[in-house]
Amino acid sequence: MAASSPAFTEPVFRFAPSPNGRLHLGHALSVLTNERLARKLGGRLLLRIEDIDVTRCKPEFEAGIREDLAWLGLRFDGAVRRQSEHFESYAEAVRGLQARRLVYPCFCSRQMIKRAVGLHKAWPVDPDGAPLYPGTCRACGPAEAATRIRAGEPHLLRLAMDRAIEVLDHGAFGRFRPNAKNVIDSWSLEHCSREKPVPTFSRNALGGAADYVAFDEAGHERRVVAQPVRWGDVVLARKEVPTSYHLSVVFDDALQGVTHVVRGRDLEAATDIHVVLQRLLGLPMPRYHFHPLLSDETGQKLAKSRLSESLADLRARGVTAGEIRAQLGFG
Ligand code: GLU
Repeated sequence: MAASSPAFTEPVFRFAPSPNGRLHLGHALSVLTNERLARKLGGRLLLRIEDIDVTRCKPEFEAGIREDLAWLGLRFDGAVRRQSEHFESYAEAVRGLQARRLVYPCFCSRQMIKRAVGLHKAWPVDPDGAPLYPGTCRACGPAEAATRIRAGEPHLLRLAMDRAIEVLDHGAFGRFRPNAKNVIDSWSLEHCSREKPVPTFSRNALGGAADYVAFDEAGHERRVVAQPVRWGDVVLARKEVPTSYHLSVVFDDALQGVTHVVRGRDLEAATDIHVVLQRLLGLPMPRYHFHPLLSDETGQKLAKSRLSESLADLRARGVTAGEIRAQLGFG
């Protein structure tokens, strides 16, 4: 795919739910915001089913999502893309990054990482609160990694964030040349041993290479300085699933010509990873809008994992789609 993707000029929005549970009011807000903005800009609205998590995603949840969306009166343009049908495309993109030494195999289990970071006081955490990967497997050379893979040792693939930033930093992307004034902190590890990772901190100029444009509902735009290093070496693929949310979302947004991504604020920080991947893969960068997250009456954010009241529950209680629209400000 890469830079040869066709140029899309009309605005394209998408709603991209994961069928690992039923939709709640927060999803309704998301899809209705997408719909409103798409209509306002005369654009298209696509539906993408993000079902790469083959254990948690279920066909019955996808059917439920479609039922809820139809009930809300939403119509989508074009064919629905189901991510589980495209694993080979994502794997190919990951292999391309691996060939450029931007991805490395990691043999650490969650417990090993926990133990390694537990040796250090105040180990840095990512924006989701997970400890940054201590870089242990960066010390593992290609020959050793190949032997361990051949021996069937379980592993996953991580983005070498420092190297990714170095590549962007060196202006490998034409007009996105670094500007020394724009400096962000980078977290890196120079020396790794399996037992005792030693973190070092370096500074890297990204110089706008990973900036992106965010817009509000009134159409005002602002430039956001991405801080991808706060995520460390994120996982890009696993053995059982040869991709990750980050990789497949940027791949598909580009493939489907998405120009405007409208998603919840819970995904705002992760957008920093997405812009790095877009730059590395030579993909066009959409504009982003992050809508507020809804809470229940106890102040807890609505979430499938907390089994928040679903749209299906509301429907069963006799609430109408019109009432949902009106409640969310789309009356
Ligand atoms: N599939 C993601 C979710 O259901 C949303 C992805 C996105 O909007 O980028 O949370």
